[in-house]
Amino acid sequence: MGYEEIHRRSVEEPEAFWAEEAKAIHWHRPPQQILEYDKPPFRRWFVGGLTNLCYNAVDRHLAERADQLALVAISTETNVTREVTYAQLHAEVNAFAAVLKRLDVQRGDRVVIYMPNMAEAVFAMLACARIGAVHSVVFGGFAAHNLALRIDDAQPKLLIAADAGSRGGKVIPYKPMIDAACAEAEYAPPRVLIVSRGLDAAEPKVAGRDEDYATLRAEVGDAQVPVEWLESNEPSYLLYTSGTTGKPKGVQRDVGGYAVAMAQSMRTIFDCAPGQVMFSTSDVGWAVGHSYNVYGPLIGGCTSLLYEGLPLTPDAGIWWALCEQYGVRTMFSSPTAIRVLKKHDVDFIKRHDLSELKYLFLAGEPLDEPTAHWINDALHKPVIDNYWQTETGWPALCLLPGLDMKPVRFGSPGFANLGYRMKVIDEATGQTVGPNQKGVLVIEPPLPPGCMSTIWRDDQRFVDSYFSHFKELLYSSLDWAIRDEDGYTFILGRTDDVINVAGHRLGTREIEESVSGYGAVAEAAVIGVADEVKGQVPVVFATLRQVTEETQARSAAADGMRKIVVDHLGAVARPARVYIVNALPKTRSGKLLRRSIQALAQGGDPGDLSTLDDPNALEEVRRALSRGP
Ligand code: ATP
Ligand code: MG
Repeated sequence: MGYEEIHRRSVEEPEAFWAEEAKAIHWHRPPQQILEYDKPPFRRWFVGGLTNLCYNAVDRHLAERADQLALVAISTETNVTREVTYAQLHAEVNAFAAVLKRLDVQRGDRVVIYMPNMAEAVFAMLACARIGAVHSVVFGGFAAHNLALRIDDAQPKLLIAADAGSRGGKVIPYKPMIDAACAEAEYAPPRVLIVSRGLDAAEPKVAGRDEDYATLRAEVGDAQVPVEWLESNEPSYLLYTSGTTGKPKGVQRDVGGYAVAMAQSMRTIFDCAPGQVMFSTSDVGWAVGHSYNVYGPLIGGCTSLLYEGLPLTPDAGIWWALCEQYGVRTMFSSPTAIRVLKKHDVDFIKRHDLSELKYLFLAGEPLDEPTAHWINDALHKPVIDNYWQTETGWPALCLLPGLDMKPVRFGSPGFANLGYRMKVIDEATGQTVGPNQKGVLVIEPPLPPGCMSTIWRDDQRFVDSYFSHFKELLYSSLDWAIRDEDGYTFILGRTDDVINVAGHRLGTREIEESVSGYGAVAEAAVIGVADEVKGQVPVVFATLRQVTEETQARSAAADGMRKIVVDHLGAVARPARVYIVNALPKTRSGKLLRRSIQALAQGGDPGDLSTLDDPNALEEVRRALSRGP
């Protein structure tokens, strides 16, 4: 059966389709009803079924693959590599769960996890899943304020934290941030469990609050903790969106639907069978980290690589060296990361034996064609873009090489994933637009398994944020897209980022795409700036592959960018101004903060900066604006 036929069945007969897919995971008690949809837009999958994410990710594999590597945690920050088999993972997760029990964590309690990419972060997540506690992983690079916000939202029984993170060899002690976050938060957790890596010189402990993991771990020894069987729709975890368009939203995920989506996607999208190796370069704090560093590969019986460190340490070939060493089959990264590598010699890739590597998947941001071509030429493997959101939890638009490999069309993440009924509609009329016409990308509810259940403790915000944009009940992705005559969908940017130039609607992404086509450009952000005559005009902020302060070179680059845009998109898209900067402001998850650039360019306030990565990059923009294009 080809894609079209299976996809049609997945959306036209969802109950029959998902009942079949559900067999891929272990159910302690099978679901009594596949889909319940009597309170739209809320839906429940596999109602009455009892299962557990940890059991599916760990225990279930012991019979066949106890001695196979489950997790390899590599750190080029601490220079420690930890290889963990499924049997060892089982032991560590049980021990961690026993420690959680000692600290009185019960089913339904929330646990905030504030750790970098280290093995214990995975043990902690799975231990929570085992006992039915709801984890909320907070990206280790976030500072105290973000941590406090997420603590208050989750109201956790426990905070689990590393003693320190490390970035580019610089140790970042977490303890001061934990103390500050607990002081700021209204619902400071009663207990804090510190997993010490020996990076931070021991700070005084807060008596009665702080516990040391190693001490408790030694005390529980080889304790076994029984799996808590959860109803499919109980919450498994909370995870926040990146905050690119405003205040992050706390996505609530379920148990059964998510497990089924993970199992299916490992097979159909990532084509990674039990025993094979997957390497996702994400941080565990992001959606990709949850789904394709932890739950997906482990539920799939694969080996998962977890990497802590810069992609350039010890050199720009580190990721490919790891692919070679561990025989990685499926690699998953982001366009942002590849653009970083693109500044370095392609030989860092080519010198490695990548014969086991079958695919490179990229997601998280638009994959511009020049970057796609560059990495494709370097690897000679399919480079597969896929589009999703923290909310969806797994790809919404993708190719399905494990099922039916459609040809890659650069610039497009492909087709609706199984179970997703998607269309591109006119913002005003709500009508489906014709081929190659722009509109808003929407999902027809009920949302498929794996997608969010709601916004944590805020059903109303769930309805308002996603389902109240059109007359018809539709989930708005808030992204702007076109679909070509063959059904490939292209993302043009956020609906907020659409620029209206003299009545022409242009996606920021279209213009960024063509600017990136100019050879000297490393990365570009395009924003719309108010203009008296045209309503709005496109303005470019770009970094160059080779940094130069030479005015002549910069103005030649700016001219080149203008020309290439006019050649591709016509004079209407001609950038009114081009600013060359040394860095672009991004979120900690690597997404361009266009709204902040735009606000500065219009003399406004840059808005919520809680997820801003590098404050210097914003300063760069400020400086560029005052210096002039
Ligand atoms: P927030 O919702 O808080 O504003 P965010 O949307 O950036 O933040 P994420 O869930 O991390 O939070 O990102 C999802 C968004 O990333 C998508 O809505 C889309 O705009 C973009 N995106 C993800 N994958 C792709 C892709 N393959 N191509 C184009 N855009 C993508
Ligand atoms: Mg979003």
